[in-house]
Amino acid sequence: MPTDVLAAVAREGEREFRVETVSLRDPGETDVVVEIAASAFCYSDWIAIDGDAERRTPGIRPIVLGHSAVGTVVDRGPEGRHRIGERVLITATPECGECFWCTSGRIDQCEGLFVPAPVSGMLHDGLELRAPGHSGTYAEATVLRAMQAFPVRSDLPDEWLAMFGCGITSGMGAVVNVGRPEPGSSVLVVGCGQIGLWMIQAARLLGAEQIIAVEPLPQRRAVAARVGATAVLDPDDGDVLEAIRALTGGRGADQGFDAGGTLEAVRLAFLGTRNGGVTTLTSYVERWSEISLPLFDLALRGRDVRSSQTGRLDMRRDIARFTRMLESGRVDVDAMLGGIRPLARINETLAASRDRVEITPIVVR
Ligand SMILES: [Zn+2]
Ligand SMILES: [Zn+2]
Repeated sequence: MPTDVLAAVAREGEREFRVETVSLRDPGETDVVVEIAASAFCYSDWIAIDGDAERRTPGIRPIVLGHSAVGTVVDRGPEGRHRIGERVLITATPECGECFWCTSGRIDQCEGLFVPAPVSGMLHDGLELRAPGHSGTYAEATVLRAMQAFPVRSDLPDEWLAMFGCGITSGMGAVVNVGRPEPGSSVLVVGCGQIGLWMIQAARLLGAEQIIAVEPLPQRRAVAARVGATAVLDPDDGDVLEAIRALTGGRGADQGFDAGGTLEAVRLAFLGTRNGGVTTLTSYVERWSEISLPLFDLALRGRDVRSSQTGRLDMRRDIARFTRMLESGRVDVDAMLGGIRPLARINETLAASRDRVEITPIVVR
């Protein structure tokens, strides 16, 4: 029997959500139905409903967004292994555990990733609702593949765990799993939205001696300094590359991390890293974006560039690792949290993200 729930729906041609009733489809063989307690609002969801971005995903409205949440399993398909009543984290990155990628150590590239948005339910006017990212967590409940719902045992509050599936894993994972800076090293982080700020926190936990943050917005530079940046630079103030080199003995940082979402940020993260260093990228900007980098440095100067899709996540390993880091009290979670608002007020949450006045706004039931 379909279940009626409220969901934040993005319809064709509209740049805000409508909170309306959706009949969730029944769970398939290996699906679970999760009642959502809290979702972290992601800036990428603003990009997804922005008019300019519609051209990138033509013909799949109406949609329900949200890809980082915590909730409770309330139903499952016959093949599902989850327990009813189990607390789970939802992430946009699936881990099927069986494909070539999952069985060869590259779970972050699971073949269940980046596949077309499924129908998650039906609107009252008969339109099919799709969920890009297969998660659709801006809703009272969602039906999704069991491979995107991970049991979590922790007493941490919902609004903290809501950030796990995107900001924490993409940001901390890029540092802990991909770049892995040495204790005492210098780290450059370009862009201080939620991803960049989690990168700074992780670099501090790993013992980076120098953390240089680059961010155009003054309020975000202040948060960067609060969570551990040792120097904060405004990219619009003079020659920022020269400033980075001046702070690092003229060489550039040992490691560079890009979280800026622009081609300029990617270039700066690369150019601000020293010879023999490692630059970790998280921005794709647009699906077919290309970038030019100095080939001499890439080929002959020992500059490694690494790809970090959701922090090269392995949820079965990383849930325990990252929840321990949060439980330790050594991470400033409060600095990351924006307003906590109910689903009915999601357009205020959208505005807070769009206007960049909050780092991670949270949507609760
Ligand atoms: Zn996200
Ligand atoms: Zn897989």
